[in-house]
Amino acid sequence: MSPLEVLFVKHIVVLPSETVADITCDVCCQSTHVEGHGFQFGTLQAHWGYGSKHDGERYEVHLCEACFFGALSGLRRERMVNTMFDENPDRADDEFGLVQRSEFWKDN
Ligand SMILES: [Zn+2]
Repeated sequence: MSPLEVLFVKHIVVLPSETVADITCDVCCQSTHVEGHGFQFGTLQAHWGYGSKHDGERYEVHLCEACFFGALSGLRRERMVNTMFDENPDRADDEFGLVQRSEFWKDN
């Protein structure tokens, strides 16, 4: 498998609960709603383009926090297997996929 475009996107959606249908996790089927904090879920998505076997297909999987990190650790393990014989395994595995931490401390 050689994904052209695979994205993990963390979404924080805050909407009045009476106006939006529940967003459930596609893996464990539990609600992703966190009391007082809206919906907390990650999305695994891909839009396959020309040249790929799945040309024109679009995928989107909603993951609750537990299933997101379960999937992430599965991918991390796979990466570990793929790179275990590399001479310079220089990546921090505990931050696999992490592109940003909260910026609460920043001045606005
Ligand atoms: Zn789940």
